[in-house]
Amino acid sequence: MISRFSLSIFIAIYSFLCFGVSNATTLITDNDKKVEVFFLGYFYDGSGKKTVEEVSKIGFSNKIPSQFALGYHSGNAWFKLTIHNKSHLQNFILNLTEPFWTQVDLYEFSQNQWKVVVNGLNVPIEQRQIYQSYPAFPLYINQNEVKTFYIKANTVSSFIGAFQIFTEKEFYRHGRFNIAQIYNAYSGILLFVLLLTGFLYFVIRERVYLYYIAYVFSFFIWINVQNGNYLYLGIPGWIHGLHAFGSLVIFFMVLFTAEILELKNKSPKISKFFNWSAAIILLCFVFISLDFAYINLFFNIYSSVFFLVLLYTSIQAWTNKYFTQARYYLIALVIYMPTMALMTMTYNGLIANVDFSRYAFAFGSLIEIIFFSFILVSHYYDSRQAKIQAQEDLFSERKSLAEKLKQEVSERTAELSKINLQLRQQQEKLEKSKQQLMYEASIDSLSELYNRRYFYKIAGPIFQESKNQNKFLSLLMIDIDRFKGINDNFGHDVGDMAIRSCSEVFKKLSSGDEIIARYGGEEFVILMPDSPTDSALKLAENIRKSIESSPLLLEQGKMVSLTLSIGIANMVVEQDKGIEDLLKRADKALYIAKNNGRNKVELV
Ligand code: GH3
Ligand code: MG
Ligand code: MG
Repeated sequence: MISRFSLSIFIAIYSFLCFGVSNATTLITDNDKKVEVFFLGYFYDGSGKKTVEEVSKIGFSNKIPSQFALGYHSGNAWFKLTIHNKSHLQNFILNLTEPFWTQVDLYEFSQNQWKVVVNGLNVPIEQRQIYQSYPAFPLYINQNEVKTFYIKANTVSSFIGAFQIFTEKEFYRHGRFNIAQIYNAYSGILLFVLLLTGFLYFVIRERVYLYYIAYVFSFFIWINVQNGNYLYLGIPGWIHGLHAFGSLVIFFMVLFTAEILELKNKSPKISKFFNWSAAIILLCFVFISLDFAYINLFFNIYSSVFFLVLLYTSIQAWTNKYFTQARYYLIALVIYMPTMALMTMTYNGLIANVDFSRYAFAFGSLIEIIFFSFILVSHYYDSRQAKIQAQEDLFSERKSLAEKLKQEVSERTAELSKINLQLRQQQEKLEKSKQQLMYEASIDSLSELYNRRYFYKIAGPIFQESKNQNKFLSLLMIDIDRFKGINDNFGHDVGDMAIRSCSEVFKKLSSGDEIIARYGGEEFVILMPDSPTDSALKLAENIRKSIESSPLLLEQGKMVSLTLSIGIANMVVEQDKGIEDLLKRADKALYIAKNNGRNKVELV
């Protein structure tokens, strides 16, 4: 309704500008290579069932400009084009600038019948008279002839487009300006952006780059659907392609924006709205593809609302400093949105179809994509910087941890060595007390000579070794004479003194290699390793003489004379089995010494 209303206003203004009466006959003169601004008769067949015979009888009172925007309609558009050829040429091409028209059929009454040339998305490109994604028809008009053509057209998209008439030569001229060239250059830029973003994603692996790739890629497809380039690939024309991919572009833009503005964290409410929008827009994509009635209208309204929220969100992002590049996002949007709005309004027939309103979106979206790419590149640098920072932090943290550890280890080591030292000291103490104990266990406290137990302990091995090596071994057994008498006459203390005094004499006269032990009360043994009989006799004699000649001096000047009896035995290797044998024989010798009157040395 709105679009039809606006169309009538527009035509009224246009007609007024063209002196009130628009001339429906288009003149071609020798000066014209192409004719772009002319008028056509227009008739809308809402039923979509009228034939060319019926339509040709209608007056076509509606005049529309060759570049037209009539909004969305479900029926057929009929255009009446009358050409007066005042040039010297006969061959011309009629071209329509939008490839998305489903059906564009050219009728011509000639030789008493209607001839039709079919075109539009329903006709495969190789079956068209002119191999081109845009509908185009060869026209043959004689010089000075006035010829009328009827064009029946329909589309699920907007009734929008521009008819152009070219001379054949001009149409095929190499390098002739064509809107397709703009689209192709634009596609090239998009591919470059895709490559760049792909590289960034490869390095940084953040989801936002994937969304952006999807966004730019869907935009790339959309551009090539606008252009009809996909038809050249042999892909059959898809009448819903333009709107379907248009919705997909918006879908990925929603995802990308939610991610780059970090809406999930920064604004959960708006994030929810974005999620719903993504779902709704994806559903629109499905319904558009399935040819649901009024879905395009719904999509247009919904995306307009969405863009208003998006504008609000990006202003919020900028003022609240969601992220550093929010300003660039806003600028991109502020440039992009009006150009998109212009195009949508043109599609809906709300404003005139002029190059600016129709194609400004290409400029707007290009600026937007450049800004978005810039944002992503700078986001990439920020992320990388953050990563490097994180790595450095980790490194220094590790370093300080290592230092701490080192310090702790050295502290523990110091503690340990201290404990070690204490342990060693304790051990030494223990060793000493053990030695002390051993000493105490092996030494007789009165004489300070080895005791009998210890004597047996070491005399056995010495005996064995001497026997094995066939060495001399002598044993002295010494007994103090009439000791009982000393005890009885002078007291037990004097007896003890006598024992100590004798012990000192033994030590003094021995060479140091001997084992001197107190064997019993006043009995002693001296084991002499490696000593022959002479040495034993000599030592025994020395001891006996020394004791005899040095009486004990008591306190009151009393003197107590002492004598010893000594028995000597030498080891007989073949005969003696153990130290006991030697002891027995020494004892025998001592007994003999006693019997012989005491103070004697005897050898057995
Ligand atoms: P003989 O000439 O025959 O050896 O006569 P004796 O008196 O020495 O003989 P006997 O072996 O009977 O006496 C040993 C005495 O030595 C007996 C004991 O009271 C004494 N006696 C043993 N051990 C000690 C001691 O440690 N100190 C003192 N004062 N006397 C001791
Ligand atoms: Mg005795
Ligand atoms: Mg005695």
